[in-house]
Amino acid sequence: MFILWEEPKRNKSIGKSEWEIVKKQWKNRCAVCSKTEKSVGILHKAHIKARSKGGSQYIPLCPTCHYRYDHHQLNSTELSRIGLTKEQYKRVTPRKKKKETGFLW
Ligand SMILES: [Zn+2]
Repeated sequence: MFILWEEPKRNKSIGKSEWEIVKKQWKNRCAVCSKTEKSVGILHKAHIKARSKGGSQYIPLCPTCHYRYDHHQLNSTELSRIGLTKEQYKRVTPRKKKKETGFLW
């Protein structure tokens, strides 16, 4: 069921120490479901663009929520936790699609 999501190395994202700070801000929990990193195994670095939270930023998401985020399965309550509205969510859809997962909407 799970699709393991690996970040490409070339992706210029935040550094390890910066990421640790981000996770600390979220108390090492998934930003959406609040599960701890320990309970989910790993928290993914998810890139979101939320104007209400100061633009482009990284948030920790558990593998389940990250998958749901990427496939537009988050509801508005969950979106509000990460500072996104439904309208914004529509716009933040990753450009890459289909190829990666074969998932059809
Ligand atoms: Zn989660």
